[in-house]
Amino acid sequence: MNSISKIKSEDSLLSCNDSYCIKDKSKISFDIAEILEQALAGDEISEQQAVLLFQAEGVDIKAIAQCADTLRQRSVGDSASFVITRNINFTNICYMGCKFCGFSKSKNDPDAQLLSMQEIANRAQEAWDRGATEVCIQGGLHPDLPADHYRNILLAIKQQVPKMHIHAFSPFEIMFGSQNAKLSYKAFIQDLIDCGLGSMPGTAAEILDVEIRQQLTRDKLTSEQWCEIISAAHQLGLPTTATIMYGHIDGPSHWAAHIGLIREMQKQHGGFTEFVPLGFVHYESPLYTERKKLKLAVRPGPTANENILMHAVSRIMLNGWIDNIQASWVKLGPDYAVQMLRAGANDLGGTLMDETITRSSGGIHGEEILPTDMVKLIQRSELKAYRRDTLYQPLEHFSAQLIASSAGCLV
Ligand code: SF4
Repeated sequence: MNSISKIKSEDSLLSCNDSYCIKDKSKISFDIAEILEQALAGDEISEQQAVLLFQAEGVDIKAIAQCADTLRQRSVGDSASFVITRNINFTNICYMGCKFCGFSKSKNDPDAQLLSMQEIANRAQEAWDRGATEVCIQGGLHPDLPADHYRNILLAIKQQVPKMHIHAFSPFEIMFGSQNAKLSYKAFIQDLIDCGLGSMPGTAAEILDVEIRQQLTRDKLTSEQWCEIISAAHQLGLPTTATIMYGHIDGPSHWAAHIGLIREMQKQHGGFTEFVPLGFVHYESPLYTERKKLKLAVRPGPTANENILMHAVSRIMLNGWIDNIQASWVKLGPDYAVQMLRAGANDLGGTLMDETITRSSGGIHGEEILPTDMVKLIQRSELKAYRRDTLYQPLEHFSAQLIASSAGCLV
């Protein structure tokens, strides 16, 4: 039996009841079919094979999405999730000047902001009162922050809202904070855990490739440092997410290597709760608006096919290692994020309440989605919706009737 015939016998790839239904399976490329067959058999695919998947076109893309949908179903069942969370960006003052960033301001900018501890605690309280189980705290690298600023944020929130899960501080902030406090990464992270840190966002990963990172951030946080900080967190038992920012000056080989590295890290210490593809938002990003001056061939974000492939190939590459692939409604828009739920993703992320980072780069998808709307979005993908906590423990399951009879916010 040749590879395509074998795949034809797999009901997974052929049960075409979703938007990626393949009408004529004979058109799937032989190489692609072989790789998908390997993945469906539970065998790991290599980075080289992932590059081939990322370069797929036409009907092959649909086959890859179906394969990812099947692997999603096998890993986490027919459910997709969201979390009620509030973003608190405590300062937008930052001296780093990453070229892709539209969020940071200089100290003298009229829009520069540094929230007081009381304001941060008040925002956490408001979030708790609206049903949030998590606050996500990140900020710019403010040059004048006192060494104890990060720990004081945690203490202020925990004093006000003791049960709130605090998901906070990117590896870049950990590097900056540990230098300020003159502590090793491990000692600094352990102190933050003792002050109430519950998990860390794996942002600032961008693309874990030396050449690309040098152009994006002048290598201010190297790939090695990102990995070292995340590994330190995992060794201390602190869960983190993992991200990728794609669709700028990068390509398939960088994506495959990045996801391959995340997979290896997960094999070593565990600790990643989810993988979050983040498409580059170009509108007001200096990386794009100043691309001629920078002499960089910067793309205006990923294409539609690249978005599908990124979520699908992530699921396929990370199968058996990271169960949760998140589709970011902030980057993709809610309608498009729903499509990713049938291309490998199983989570729509947070309701957010105050999304600012993507909006600062010209993102157009708003600052909040209400829980009821999250449920409706998930149900459009014909999956069962549930609300989760930060670590993917289910908190509330929703039926279609509940939503039909629910007039407003569920919380
Ligand atoms: S991405 Fe983060 S570190 Fe870089 S300039 Fe923006 S706020 Fe600063």
